[in-house]
Order: sequence, then structure tokens, then C-alpha cells
Amino acid sequence: MPSKKIRIKGIIQGVGFRPFIYRIAHSLHLKGFVRNTTSGVEIEVEGNQRNIAQFITMLQRKAPAAARIDEIKVSGSKIEGHKGFAIRDSSESTGSTQISPDIATCRDCLHEMHDPEDRRYRFPFINCTNCGPRYSIISDTPYDRARTSMRSFQMCSACAQEFSSAQDRRFHAQPDCCSLCGPTYTLHSITGRMIDTHHAITKTASLLKNGKIVAIKGIGGFHIACDATNCRAVTRLRRLKKRPTKPLAIMTQHRNVTSIAHLNEHEDRMLKSPIAPIMLLKKRRSRICNAVSPGNPFLGIMLPYTPVHYLLLEKVPYLIMTSGNIQDEPIVQQGERVAKRLGTLVSFYLDHDRAIENRCDDSVGYYLPGKGFSMIRRSRGYVPIPVELPLSVKPTLAVGPYLKNTFTLADKHEAYISPHIGDLDNLETLQFFREMVEKYKKWFRIDPQLIVHDLHPDYLSTKIAREMPGPKVGIQHHVAHFVSCLGENIVTGKAIGIIFDGTGFGLDGKIWGGEFFVGDLRTQQRIGHLQYLPLPGGEASIKKPFRIATAYAHVLLQKTLRLSTNREIHAIKRMIEQERNVVYTSSMGRLFDCVSAMLGVTMEITFEAEAAINLENIAAPGVKGHYPYGITDAEPRVIQVSDTLSAIMSEKKRGISKGLISAKFHNTVAAFSLDLARRVRDETGISQVCFSGGVFQNRYLLNLMIKRFTNADFMVHVHRQLPNNDGCISYGQVIAGNTDTKAIP
Ligand code: ZN
Ligand code: ZN
Ligand code: FE
Repeated sequence: MPSKKIRIKGIIQGVGFRPFIYRIAHSLHLKGFVRNTTSGVEIEVEGNQRNIAQFITMLQRKAPAAARIDEIKVSGSKIEGHKGFAIRDSSESTGSTQISPDIATCRDCLHEMHDPEDRRYRFPFINCTNCGPRYSIISDTPYDRARTSMRSFQMCSACAQEFSSAQDRRFHAQPDCCSLCGPTYTLHSITGRMIDTHHAITKTASLLKNGKIVAIKGIGGFHIACDATNCRAVTRLRRLKKRPTKPLAIMTQHRNVTSIAHLNEHEDRMLKSPIAPIMLLKKRRSRICNAVSPGNPFLGIMLPYTPVHYLLLEKVPYLIMTSGNIQDEPIVQQGERVAKRLGTLVSFYLDHDRAIENRCDDSVGYYLPGKGFSMIRRSRGYVPIPVELPLSVKPTLAVGPYLKNTFTLADKHEAYISPHIGDLDNLETLQFFREMVEKYKKWFRIDPQLIVHDLHPDYLSTKIAREMPGPKVGIQHHVAHFVSCLGENIVTGKAIGIIFDGTGFGLDGKIWGGEFFVGDLRTQQRIGHLQYLPLPGGEASIKKPFRIATAYAHVLLQKTLRLSTNREIHAIKRMIEQERNVVYTSSMGRLFDCVSAMLGVTMEITFEAEAAINLENIAAPGVKGHYPYGITDAEPRVIQVSDTLSAIMSEKKRGISKGLISAKFHNTVAAFSLDLARRVRDETGISQVCFSGGVFQNRYLLNLMIKRFTNADFMVHVHRQLPNNDGCISYGQVIAGNTDTKAIP
């Protein structure tokens, strides 16, 4: 009688994997045990050889939906003469477990929640082995109830019965609970007064229905909610959140999505997945208030992903659900903090008494034709699943950039990327950053031997890195972008990196952001860039695109644009002429800002990249042709845009529509990029390209460039597991920091 030991790695804890193993072992009359270890799941089986073979096939083919098997190792083992098959308690061993992300409420649970006969009828914390909170309630590994914030809830006998019954779909579901033994929702006024305990959710729904703004505790933190069809409420929320135009996310049930947005089958599949991200979908004319995403053809839509969301949506079918934070601070996780941080925004909050151990924002993305899901923010539903590294690294902590910060803790081939931390410019965010670094080190048992940071000396992340003990290395921002895209796509050969970005500290002390590299995971050479142009008033001018347009027109066209007061125009000119308070930049983001302001589309911005987004949004479809540009011959080649801007100005004067000019400007960017890449290919034979950088969040540009480059027989790599924006930086830093990267300016 043979006996086998099977070790499995992957997302296999907290997804109903052990109960599943138990059931198939039973059905095949195998004896032995299964247990969680800190490095995955360990199984021992004894029995008929054929059944063991079938067992190994079944465990791969029929694994629970939320599980992901990365590795299976089967070895022979000693016959122990097990009496039956058992689920054993976790064993402590070395290695790192992979913690399951939070999983959206499953169909079985929803069905029970809507069944008046069920003991969990309308219970807002219903969950099972296939769904519910995981990452957000974990305080340590391996994943057992005692190491989650469910530890303070003693199971009632009915729940305990389910938990220990192999035939039950809540067998070993760690957060299992019911209305007798589980957490409860309570409604509070912002002054802290408890308003309701018994009908807290119904009352909250009524408040929302009546146009109130309410903070709602969910899985990874508080959302700020209001009725998305009530324009007064939406406008008020915007005014209070000091967020005049940046799009707000909507939550609605699946059946309602197509009445407010267009939806293809790929988008639908992603929307309904256990990740339940915010998807950017093409808007339809609908009841949704225009102020939700003014002037933008897309709506950010997500489906309900916890039971309480379903209950609230019964009364208010379209809810604004925006992160419960003020501007760039992290999302609020505790009821007691609501009054302090969100007191000016909401008058009520719906709280519950299950602690959020780890906060996590909603993930955001969209469907990129031919490429799949394109990430804008990688957080809930993904975190903390590791992303594979293209090479083995020493234990490393990469602290990431300043904006949209994530850090990465890595070892060997695994990169554990943090949830979205936010913009590292305030104490709250900084504290969140430090707290998560410590947790990641503990969970994944990685003690970093190398710290990698950005080259920008003033970034808080750089300063934190400097305070840490051990060897450190600084990596240029756009090199990190390039290597991140190479690494994620496991490109081991040479490629051309086209990095179009907002801002990054360059090796020559200037601000880079329109960069062309040639290289691989180990060496990168900057072979081209957008010409250097002056930013009057330094990086502060980023908020005022009209200043950028004025400066660029002055320097390149010797023209005075009348975009602001004479005094301001003079001040800008003086700064440039006297070289005072001016920094030089090759940023592609700034070129978009310049054109946006030149056309009168956006003069000042209220959120990052607003001018560029508005320029993208007006671009007319199907426009051919582009404006002239120049490319110098010597390396690094410089892309010159004076002819481009001059043609734009004269077309504007002739009354050509902004939509047409915008489209032709996008075409120009694609044209000079392809032109430069072709020259490099002719000289070197390299025909792979990587696109990275925040500017590629521009869907119009990204689609256009993918099409043009593919047609020209380039092999195009884009980010798919990580965002184009600075959310990908820390992952790239890990690779570059470990390969002794030398970027040559
Ligand atoms: Zn479920
Ligand atoms: Zn119970
Ligand atoms: Fe960047």
C-alpha cells in the first residue's frame, strides 16, 4: 500500500482548500491528513495507488475557485497506518505562507442571505469557505481564527457544528459566524452618539435615500457613501471632500450595470470575479448624476462585495462609494477615527465591531483590448498575492516612490507588493507605510538584506530608507519603470523601453519623464528623450498647466500666450530669462499639460494628470495624420517639439476643432515614438518594446501605440499585473537593486 507526501504552494489558505482536500480524500477512501504550514499546505495520503493518482489529478483540476496552485511536490513517505483522514492544526515551519486576499461574497451565501427560512437571513457578515474577509482580518500567519480579528467572537453551537462538519460548506471557514455569535453593525452620529443597533443598516439606507452622506465600514476600511442619482448629495460630497472633478466610484448590483454603462464580456467577467474591482466602463446616458465623472466618458463601477453592500443597495440602487479619507491620507479603518478624520464630511457612520487588521483600498482597472485587465490601482482582491520575479533576489525591501506609493518585500522569485499606500507626504500615510512594512516582514518571514529607494533625495520614502540599517541602493525612477515592465513580463532579452511619465529625478539632476532606454534586466542605457524644457516655479507649476504652456511657447515659439494676467506672464518670462526658480524637464506628462492648456482645455488642475485626461477625453476618434516633429541624430537622441507646438497653435487659430487637434497630437506622440524605435531597431536588431509610466494610463494613447507598434512588427509588452503608474516602481526597484544595475545617462 503506497503512501505519499504532497506539498502545495500557492493561494491555498483561507479559500476552502483543506475542506476540499478532506472531501476528495474521503471520496477516494484515502487515509492521512492535511494541514496548513507557513509555506503552504501539506498532505499525507495512504491508500490504493490508482486512487492516490486520481487524488493528485483532482486536487489540481477541481480546486476551489479562489485557490491558485503554484507548485506541487509529491514524494514517497513512510506508511503510518492512519485510521482516517483528518484536518490537522497548522504547523509552524519556515518559509512563507501566501495569505489569501479578501474575496467577494459568493452566490451560495447571497442565496442564504435572501432566504427568510435561513438562520443567516439578512445577516451582514455572512461568509463561507469560498468567500469573505481574509487579508483584512489577519494579524499573523498561518491563517487560523485565533490569528484573525474574529478571535474575539466565540462561535455559537450551530456555527461550531458547521465549522467542524466535513460535509458542510463552512467546514473550517475561519470567519464563520451568525447573528447570535458574530459581529454587529451599529449606526452612530458623528458626535459619537449611538443611534441604532437593531436596524442600523435599514436606517443607514434611509439616510442615504434622503440625500445624506454616510461613512460605511466595509472590508478594508470606511467608504464615504451617498446616492449617486442625487445631484445635491454628490455635489455636497465633492465640496466637502475638496475634490471638485476627480471621478467618483459607483457601486451597483450586476443587473443595473448595463443601464448606466456599456459592458463587454471581458469587462463583465472581471467585474463579477471574486476580486470585484472598480472597472472603468464607457458611460451611458442615465440617471447617474453628471457630477459623478464630469466631462469624462467613463464611469468607475464596482459590484457589491460584502453582504452589507447588498442590503444597502436594496433601497439605494446606485451608491457613490469613495474611499473614506481626506485627499491623500490613507483610508480610515476605525469607527473612533471617523469623527476625527472625516467629521467635516459625514454626519453619520455605520460601524461594526470586527476590527480591520489591515486596511485595503478598492482595486481599479479597465479592459485593454487584446491585452486583458489593465491595472490602475492594485489593492483589494490582489494583496498580498506575490508577483513573480524574473530572477532570484536576495531578501530585499524596495520602498517605492512618493506618489501612489507601494513598497515591495521580496525574496528569491517572489515579490510581495504592499497594498496601495498613497502619496507619502503626510504623517498618516507615513505611519501606514511603516506599519505595513513591519507586518510584511513578519508574515512573509523576510528580513531584508538590501534596501532600494528612488534617487530623489527629498522623497520621504528615500529618507525612510536612509534611516534603515544595512546596504542601500538608489535606482533611477524611469529605470525602475522599464525594469518593472520587463520583469513582470519575464522578458530576459533586450528591449526598447519607452517610459512616458509625469516626474522622476534624473541622473543628470533634471526632471525626467519622456525617456527611451535600450536594455535588459541588468543594464539600461538612456538612448533618447524629449527635449528639456523649463518649468517656471519648479514642480509647483504642475498644478498650473497654463504656466507650462506659457513657458514652452515662450522658449520654443518665441510667442506670448495670453493665458493669464500680464503680471503672471512677465513673471514666468523673467524666471526663464534669469534662470531663476526654473527646473528643466523632459516629462511627457508636462507636454500633455502644455497642449491641454494651449487649447484652453484645462488651465489649472485639481488632481494629478487632470489636464492630460481632459485632453484625452476630447480626442476625436478615427483621425489620421500627425504634426511635424524633430529627432536629433547623436545619442541620446532628442525629440524636438517646436514644430509640433507651432502647428497646433496655427490650427487652433484657424478654428480647427480641439477634438481633432487633440487626436493629431496623440498621433504625433505615437509617430515620433515609433520613428525613434525603428531607428534603434535598424541599428541593433532589437524588436521588443516595453511601455511604462503614468502617461500610459491614457487609454487612447496606449491603444494607439500598441496598434502602431504591433503593425510595425514590434513585440509590445505592457503592464498587466501592475499599474503603469508609480504603483509599479517598487517592484522594478527590487529587480534593478539586485542586478547591480548601472543606468548610463
Ligand atoms: Zn460564500
Ligand atoms: Zn453563530
Ligand atoms: Fe513614474
